[in-house]
Amino acid sequence: TTLLELKKVSKQYGGNTKALSDVDFSVKEGEFVSIIGPSGAGKSTLLRCVNRMIEASSGEIRFDGQDVRGSSKRELKMIRRKMGMIFQHYNLVNRLSVIENVLHGRLGYKSTLAGMLGLYLEEEKQQAASLLQILGLEEQMYKRADQLSGGQKQRVGIARALIQSPKLLLCDEPIASLDPNASKIIMDHLKNISTNMGITVLINLHQVEVALKYSDRIIGVNKGRVVYDGSPDDITTDQ
Ligand code: ADP
Ligand code: ADP
Repeated sequence: TTLLELKKVSKQYGGNTKALSDVDFSVKEGEFVSIIGPSGAGKSTLLRCVNRMIEASSGEIRFDGQDVRGSSKRELKMIRRKMGMIFQHYNLVNRLSVIENVLHGRLGYKSTLAGMLGLYLEEEKQQAASLLQILGLEEQMYKRADQLSGGQKQRVGIARALIQSPKLLLCDEPIASLDPNASKIIMDHLKNISTNMGITVLINLHQVEVALKYSDRIIGVNKGRVVYDGSPDDITTDQ
């Protein structure tokens, strides 16, 4: 079944910068899809239109049976709970511990009584701890986030996204700031999450070889347009 569908999605930033032009594609539940393309192609804009961190200028975005662009503020909150996001620069809160960063990933948390008081339920702590254990961070749980390496920070970012039990993980250049060793660990975790938890992954990558190795499907973007949509097996890289 289709989880995400984009129809003629365009984004104009003002002036003549057309970051996206008539982007059409759909993603099935459980698929691992990479978006590849050069810097400035529109990959980041595309991911951010999906969860409305950026408003598309036109077109239709449907996610899990809902109209994303037409959703009210309240509906959008519910939609975002089902979409975890992972960023190139991790976006952790440095002064907080690793486990607190994960607990803060729950959208809407701050408006709950526990959130206002800065308390966590035991059950939520258990859930965060178990995600951190899966990601190999049990020993880092009570360290401040800024004491971790880049690769460890990104694993915290993954745990923070997973605590909402999302259906879709949007990953915006998650390995662009990491060395090859840390990159492999992150990609292996994302692949495991996709395979074992059934979570759909939509990931921006500029490293073509990595995309080819991990993806079920590749979407190539250039100058705001989809220029390729298909199997990684049909792409040759003799450079
Ligand atoms: P990518 O992620 O593939 O590098 P982006 O989505 O970041 O591409 O950018 C696509 C195009 O939109 C580029 O030409 C970029 O300069 C432009 N752009 C991105 N963000 C903004 C913004 N906030 N304001 C104006 N132009 C932007
Ligand atoms: P609230 O104010 O309802 O308690 P939060 O403070 O937890 O909500 O989150 C505020 C905003 O942060 C969200 O509405 C959203 O725009 C943004 N945000 C944080 N994490 C994510 C994410 N994983 N995906 C999309 N947006 C996010």
